[in-house]
Amino acid sequence: MSTTHSTASSMAMTGPMGIFGGTFDPIHYGHLRTAFELLDTLRLPEMRFVPAGNPPHRAGVTASNEVRLQMVRAATAGQSRFTVDDRELRKAGPSYSVETLADLRAEYPTRPLCFIIGMDAFLGLPRWHQWRNLLNLAHLVVAHRPGWRAPTLGPLGELLVDRGTGSVTDLHESLAGKIYIHAVTQLEISSTDVRALIAAGRDPRYLMPEDVRHILMESGCYARKEATPE
Ligand code: ATP
Repeated sequence: MSTTHSTASSMAMTGPMGIFGGTFDPIHYGHLRTAFELLDTLRLPEMRFVPAGNPPHRAGVTASNEVRLQMVRAATAGQSRFTVDDRELRKAGPSYSVETLADLRAEYPTRPLCFIIGMDAFLGLPRWHQWRNLLNLAHLVVAHRPGWRAPTLGPLGELLVDRGTGSVTDLHESLAGKIYIHAVTQLEISSTDVRALIAAGRDPRYLMPEDVRHILMESGCYARKEATPE
């Protein structure tokens, strides 16, 4: 495993680990604010950002793995409890969250794991590989996003009745299996919109840390591709 800011300190060796997966194509303040508020609310000693390599349930990514990793590292550098784990980027083939969580569970057998996902991602959970197994490995922490509602019906509605908790202590006292929904400050930023804005020739300033903006502008990864002359 290769993590940065691995000094997330000895404190990080106890207490629940937050795991924030995403394509981060690019990372923006919606991700960072969510991660920061959850550190605080859930009393997490560590929030680990895990950029996805080859997400199976969505279309391909735009920026290279290298640039996305560079952006995530730059974005998280100022917060000692944020760490970055590049295991999914180093893996060939699709990256399934359930496999990443199984690896982390094996590495940290006595530590609660809190897998963070947005409400939009939670609603699509039944399409994920071995989705029911996720809760054997980790708690799910669902961050409210603008415009999305928690399900009350169907398999996810039932799961919430069964596994839902409003208690942070529950997340500290068991290793896995609970679902905690938390409303974070609503910042209506999405990577899709950021990419579209840049492709339209506009400036993404103030949607993400300046260091991230510099990396993506320099790499030209989201710039509009000129049509090839006939
Ligand atoms: P895209 O627009 O490319 O789908 P995204 O902005 O949703 O990207 P991802 O990297 O796919 O970003 O998201 C990683 C995780 O962060 C997901 O669980 C997603 O729900 C959550 N997330 C993304 N944007 C926000 C936001 N503005 N507020 C809260 N959570 C967010």
